[in-house]
Amino acid sequence: MSFEEKTSEIEQGLKCQGCGAILTYQPGTSYLACSYCGTRNEIADQLPEDGHIESTDYKVFGQAMEGLADERYSYLAEVVHCSNCGANSRLNPHVTADLCAFCASPLVIDHQQKRILKPHGLVPFSVDYKNAFRLLTQWAGKIWFAPNDFKRIFNSRNDRLKGVYVPFWSYDADVQSDYVGSRGEYYYVTRTRRNSDGETEEYEERRTNWYPASGSIYSQFKDIVISGSTSLPEKFSDKIGPWNLG
Ligand SMILES: [Zn+2]
Ligand SMILES: [Zn+2]
Repeated sequence: MSFEEKTSEIEQGLKCQGCGAILTYQPGTSYLACSYCGTRNEIADQLPEDGHIESTDYKVFGQAMEGLADERYSYLAEVVHCSNCGANSRLNPHVTADLCAFCASPLVIDHQQKRILKPHGLVPFSVDYKNAFRLLTQWAGKIWFAPNDFKRIFNSRNDRLKGVYVPFWSYDADVQSDYVGSRGEYYYVTRTRRNSDGETEEYEERRTNWYPASGSIYSQFKDIVISGSTSLPEKFSDKIGPWNLG
């Protein structure tokens, strides 16, 4: 498997086709609206034209990732570390105060530059802010004994609800395993016994015939998606999806 530099494509993809301005994304839409010239830049909801998503060899990638020094897979970004839950988040530039999106603790914004992984792809948000807030309020309304702090979030009009990109790894695997063991098959023999009335009766007794078995099993796995977040519990990250990986 070989590497391919995708950076330029990604950057070009985020520039307006009309005027070249950098685009921002509006959750719930399938396009990037340019705030300068108004052009709607549609986001491709299909695989690339050749239907091929570049995969990277696991071992080669692991070596390249050591210390995150390889610029093909990482870039320098401003990262805020939450001292309460340990989550790392990226904030928009110029944000000077915020709460952790995972545990709602106030973040100490120390403007640290860190090398972080460059995503291969991004799935746009399908629920916009208004809808997300409505769904959350609806859900919270059904919960008895919700903590007051939690309810306050809905009562006060603020921007505490935040969209967060959650990292996922996608794996393909060719798996082969060899096995050696014993395989047992049941068989029955007819025996006789005396029942409680003193009569002789026949019954079936189960026995196992063991014989040596060995073999080789080959299997292929495609697009096994595993959360890369240590902050979001698996029971929640498992609910994101399904992933249409083609
Ligand atoms: Zn434009
Ligand atoms: Zn936190």
